[in-house]
Amino acid sequence: MIALLKFSLPAFPRVNRKNRDQRLIPRILCFFLGIALPWAIIAPSAEARDLIRVLILRDISSVKVASEGLNLYDLKSGKSFFKNRKNTSLLFEREPGGRVRLRGQTLSAPGFLVESVGPPLLINGRSYRDQLRITPGPNQDLWVINVLPLEEYLVGLINFEISSQWPMEAIKAQVIAARTYAFFQRGNRAAEPYDVDSGVNDQVYGGTGKEDVRSRRAVEETRGEMILHQGNPIFSVYSACCGGKTESGEYMWDGVFPYLQSTDCAYCLDSPHFLWNYSIDGEHLASALGNSMFSGSRVLRVEIEERSPSRRVLRLSIQSENARRFITGKDFRRLLGYDRLRSTNFILTEKEGVFLFSGLGWGHGVGFCQWGAKGMAEAGMDHRTILKSYYQGVEIGKNQR
Ligand SMILES: [Zn+2]
Repeated sequence: MIALLKFSLPAFPRVNRKNRDQRLIPRILCFFLGIALPWAIIAPSAEARDLIRVLILRDISSVKVASEGLNLYDLKSGKSFFKNRKNTSLLFEREPGGRVRLRGQTLSAPGFLVESVGPPLLINGRSYRDQLRITPGPNQDLWVINVLPLEEYLVGLINFEISSQWPMEAIKAQVIAARTYAFFQRGNRAAEPYDVDSGVNDQVYGGTGKEDVRSRRAVEETRGEMILHQGNPIFSVYSACCGGKTESGEYMWDGVFPYLQSTDCAYCLDSPHFLWNYSIDGEHLASALGNSMFSGSRVLRVEIEERSPSRRVLRLSIQSENARRFITGKDFRRLLGYDRLRSTNFILTEKEGVFLFSGLGWGHGVGFCQWGAKGMAEAGMDHRTILKSYYQGVEIGKNQR
């Protein structure tokens, strides 16, 4: 399993229908007035067709897309460059300034839309369905955004997040949490070029390669179901293993989350991620924390200054040879690496200049515990019971708003 470790969240109002309407109204007007709006015709807004925009690549200077059949458009104008091109491979490169170049075709545009005519679109050995938007990124890089139906995205996601061989009720709970999370972020990021990242910052998605029958069954049998609080889809964060007690949302993100309260979890004890150890010497620790914090120095002492009620570290002090600094537990973990310092629920000892961290769980620990869900399903609980045990005061139902 690839562990899920979520850490980024901008300010997040409730899912806002207004944004959706603001984007649809001009399109409808253009339609009735006969005004050309090719982009809208090729690719209606994600919301209109219940699509999701998944950022699959960034920080790259070029990307090669291959397919047995595809169409190519200018992303902004909608102008068609070619249709139903067979067995082709296209190399897109970032140009200086705000454009993208298609080598071999001597085409240049502010962005390209690659559309499948059926066969998958292949990038770096992974296959994607429907559409790819290839646009300049903000750092002289390229971004590749896959646009596909939300429900198909969920089918592909399951085996990147958990295993479809887990009990069906755990898979269904995961599907509903992921659907709700995607829906929430889509409303939250309506003005952004993408809805969800395909990495651990949001939900792990690597294309269609791991879709299977059990994942599809879980998606179809829960179609449209979401986790609702007072009728609204919630910010349904989750992590791999909570280590026996989940964390309250308020310690991870600014905001009020009545449904993200700390709760005991007695079902993830068998997880391979329940216990972990990590050691690092003072020199490497200083280096990991960054030169701006400890330039050319060595860490001599690390002290835990504050913990949350669930025992996760909120603040530490770091004493080096020439400075003492304070850092939050979240930043400390981010700088050391989410795969190394697997949670902020740790104790530490120091011996001969080496720091040993011993901890519980993997991930931020807020909300749904993936390994706990597996344990609950194995104990005979259904997906609604599982979800309600991790999110307080919620209902599972179709979104009516
Ligand atoms: Zn747990």
